[in-house]
Amino acid sequence: EHIANQIAAGEVVERPASVVKELVENAIDAGSTKIDVSVEEGGLDSIRVTDNGAGIDPEDCETAFYRHATSKIAEGRDLFQITSLGFRGEALPSIAAVSKVRLVTSNAQDGRGRKIEIEGGHLRVNEETAAPRGTDFLVKELFYNTPARLKYMKTIQTELGHISDYMYRLALSRPDIAFTLRHNGNSLLQTLGNGDALQVIAAVYGTQSAKAMLLFEAENMDYTLSGYISRPDYTRANRNGMSLIVNGRYIRNYGLMQAILRGYHTLLPINRFPLVVIQLSMHPSLIDVNVHPSKLEVRFSKEQELFAFVEEEVRKVLQQEIL
Ligand code: ADP
Ligand code: MG
Repeated sequence: EHIANQIAAGEVVERPASVVKELVENAIDAGSTKIDVSVEEGGLDSIRVTDNGAGIDPEDCETAFYRHATSKIAEGRDLFQITSLGFRGEALPSIAAVSKVRLVTSNAQDGRGRKIEIEGGHLRVNEETAAPRGTDFLVKELFYNTPARLKYMKTIQTELGHISDYMYRLALSRPDIAFTLRHNGNSLLQTLGNGDALQVIAAVYGTQSAKAMLLFEAENMDYTLSGYISRPDYTRANRNGMSLIVNGRYIRNYGLMQAILRGYHTLLPINRFPLVVIQLSMHPSLIDVNVHPSKLEVRFSKEQELFAFVEEEVRKVLQQEIL
């Protein structure tokens, strides 16, 4: 049992950023409106995720760490049709197998909660404690008992980079949730969770960048588009400032990115790039299903129509500015 958990852990928990991702996705699943992430030394020393979500029933706290205790779907379906992000029931057991975990959670308003401590998969503490409603996960000394995995970790800066990239993407895709990210006590991200995408852009890219953004919105039979793109006089030297969000999820899609750039480059020099955050909504059936759930890549069923639509809207908003 114990060994099996450690092996399985390697699949789910590749690096500190995977722990952050799993814990934050759980917090979102629990309906949290505020999620605070605090890491030390690139997450290798500690990762703490605190949320104000539904909390875990005291009766369920221990079983949440057993494998497959909570699997929500049996086989792959269209993940965009599943509102909850978690579906494997493997994250907590995997994390707990390769670290020292402390969970404090309450699903009540009376200040009573539960504390669990697990070390390398072994339960050490399971007791009542005082806790506000919500969940507070502390993961210390990741991979302390799997030296082979620990050896693969890159520098603190690299591991932190993976964590902050993930948090920035998530914040951009969920302006309705208030996120903070701290590293060794320093604030790297703070969003308000008031639904204002421009506030998140300011938090991620800085207020100057946010001030340079143009809003554009459009819809047709299939797609609703809402985006921010930087003014023609505010350009970037690379394409790293392009975020695509589809049905509330941050995605990667080469064709969609090219469509934006085609619209952009009909008016602007080909060696300049926009800062752009595009939100698209569409029926889930317009997104192809056979793409791996944990990957960011998606495909679109009617991609030519979609790309033409986006290209045209990008061109239109810039044209209005240049005229
Ligand atoms: P999954 O998310 O696939 O169900 P996990 O191992 O990630 O599996 O989590 C196990 C269960 O623990 C979840 O289904 C959920 O019921 C509970 N849980 C984990 N984290 C939280 C949280 N932050 N708030 C509320 N419940 C949580
Ligand atoms: Mg989960």
